[in-house]
Amino acid sequence: MSSRLLLVVPCYNEEEILRSTNQKLLDYFEILISKNLIDSESKICYVNDGSRDKTWTIIEELSGLSSRILGVKLSKNFGHQNALLAGLFEFRGQFDCYISIDADLQDDINAIEAMILKYREGASVVYGVREDRSKDSFFKRFTAEFFYKLMFKMGIPLVFNHADFRLIDNQVLEQLEHYNEVNMFLRGIIPTIGFKSEKVFYSRLEREAGETKYPLKKMLTFAWNGITSFSTFPMRLVLWFGIFNFVVAIFVGIYTLISLYLGKTVSGWTSTVLPMAFFSGSNMIAIGLIGEYIGKIYEEVKSRPRFIVEKTVGTSKS
Ligand code: UDP
Ligand code: MG
Repeated sequence: MSSRLLLVVPCYNEEEILRSTNQKLLDYFEILISKNLIDSESKICYVNDGSRDKTWTIIEELSGLSSRILGVKLSKNFGHQNALLAGLFEFRGQFDCYISIDADLQDDINAIEAMILKYREGASVVYGVREDRSKDSFFKRFTAEFFYKLMFKMGIPLVFNHADFRLIDNQVLEQLEHYNEVNMFLRGIIPTIGFKSEKVFYSRLEREAGETKYPLKKMLTFAWNGITSFSTFPMRLVLWFGIFNFVVAIFVGIYTLISLYLGKTVSGWTSTVLPMAFFSGSNMIAIGLIGEYIGKIYEEVKSRPRFIVEKTVGTSKS
């Protein structure tokens, strides 16, 4: 039995590339359908993320030409992650599986076949993993890989070199709805949802037209968002720094007292340096402690699910 696939493509100012992307996707869908891997009712959904160019007009035109094309227009630019979610949630439950891919097709569409095969073998999530980044600029590759390593160090559950090219099934999409946070960092959230997952490897291609919609500033905001949505590590650093400061203050204190005792100081020096060292250390600890509680509050307000049941047996639901 072939499955109904929805391909979700977020588009922000992609007028230069959209038509060629669409043609490639349509051709590829025909191949998948002829191989009986996906159902003929499978669709492609373009989400216009508040583009300022003709992207939406093109989406409307493409949708008029083929019943395979769906379009969703967001009222303004909400960012890549939200555009993706909008496409997924708009059609949830109407398909068997959902694949997200960037409009520039830098992620090789030929990996979709392998994704579908893994899905058919029972995987609920299939991560597209970039095996070869040689087509990315040195800067992009360096910053991206540094970011993944940093996230790992902080204990954030990322799949190395996986971005947002992935397949999820209905079960996972349903659970995704229980994550109510405004700053969705999907590549961190999906692994926390669980279920059986697989990886498919591919080489990252070059962007054929238009330029990256992730300039450095956006990339940094995105990375920072990812870190702060998943880790209270930066905040804990303050506490550790406070403790370190305090230990240093003790030594500084001893030093100033010895100097005072030996009469090597000018008047007023000890009474200035001693309290300064002591209070800066204790202040930093106090800030760190407050941070710990704010971190707890942050975890609570995100109200992520505490657990997710995959199956039960012997009950009426099974
Ligand atoms: N994108 C979006 N909203 C934004 C920025 C980007 O929907 O605010 C889309 C963009 O159209 C593309 C995908 O996100 O489909 C990834 O962007 P891009 O390829 O420019 O990023 P890069 O590959 O350079 O990281
Ligand atoms: Mg790209």
